[in-house]
Amino acid sequence: METLKNFLKKSRKAIFSSVLAIFLAFIVTTAAASGDDVLRVNVDRSECCGCGLCEVIAPHNFAIIDEKAVPLLGGILYMDELIEAYEICPNMAIYFTEF
Ligand code: SF4
Repeated sequence: METLKNFLKKSRKAIFSSVLAIFLAFIVTTAAASGDDVLRVNVDRSECCGCGLCEVIAPHNFAIIDEKAVPLLGGILYMDELIEAYEICPNMAIYFTEF
């Protein structure tokens, strides 16, 4: 019985995460289509040294892949983390453009 409860709890979490991801994608797409200013986070791979500070500070916004930082879709919700990572990047490799 306990196993079934855990399974249902995990399933609810997974469903909630999926719905949230779809909702975020919808918001970004709708804003872009309506011409609103939406910022896109970028990493200049030629400047990135792969130190991983951005991933540690803003795990919702960055992942290290092939020894370089890659911005993650949907991380814009975590603005505090994003700004902190932007400020701490030693090579100023993080920058923003309009979507
Ligand atoms: S903090 Fe800057 S240099 Fe370090 S991995 Fe992130 S983007 Fe690259």
